[in-house]
Amino acid sequence: MTASARLLIVGPQGSGKGTQGVRIAESFGIPVVSTGDIFRANIKEGTELGQQVTAILDAGDLVPDELTSAIVRDRLSQDDAAAGFLLDGYPRNTHQVEHLDEFLAGRGESLDAVILLDVPREESISRLALRATEQGRTDDTPEAIAHRLDIYEHETAPILSVYGPRGIVDTIDGVGTLDEITERIFAALDARGLRVAV
Ligand code: ADP
Repeated sequence: MTASARLLIVGPQGSGKGTQGVRIAESFGIPVVSTGDIFRANIKEGTELGQQVTAILDAGDLVPDELTSAIVRDRLSQDDAAAGFLLDGYPRNTHQVEHLDEFLAGRGESLDAVILLDVPREESISRLALRATEQGRTDDTPEAIAHRLDIYEHETAPILSVYGPRGIVDTIDGVGTLDEITERIFAALDARGLRVAV
């Protein structure tokens, strides 16, 4: 069953947001829209977009806002995202929040909840080191990781000052087993009346 929910999951690199995002989206029957995954798929397939963003991803820089927002608008316009979606990795700065707000407002929609996965910096760095050996992502070099964490702190964390006053942010302790963390997220969504239909 599909339960309508428009969600965003935010957290520093290594917070486990990708893994948790997939679990939550599967339970709700909504698609995960991960900008990082979209860019990596395009790089792998050698598309024009892929060629455009390869060097940017490898350096750990952000892809230009206009381009990223256009890609997200396209993806959210597909049928499977009509009843809901879980955004992972977008919006990543306050400009992108404005772009998303404008797009959703045009459809008479808004985000229902922003799940913030709270993980200490040392913990995310050690998880990233592990992931680098397991997945071999080209942007998991020490330099690119440090740069991405800096961007998270300076550009992405501030989006929470925009969403916080809207009363939609749920801060979740991101330290624990995968199942424990999933349960915490479900409990927070449940408290908002966002429930998986059975
Ligand atoms: P991580 O959270 O580990 O940095 P992601 O898969 O979310 O990994 O993103 C990988 C890269 O893709 C980013 O470093 C950036 O280059 C690009 N990217 C992803 N999402 C965005 C976005 N919303 N705006 C600009 N660039 C993005």
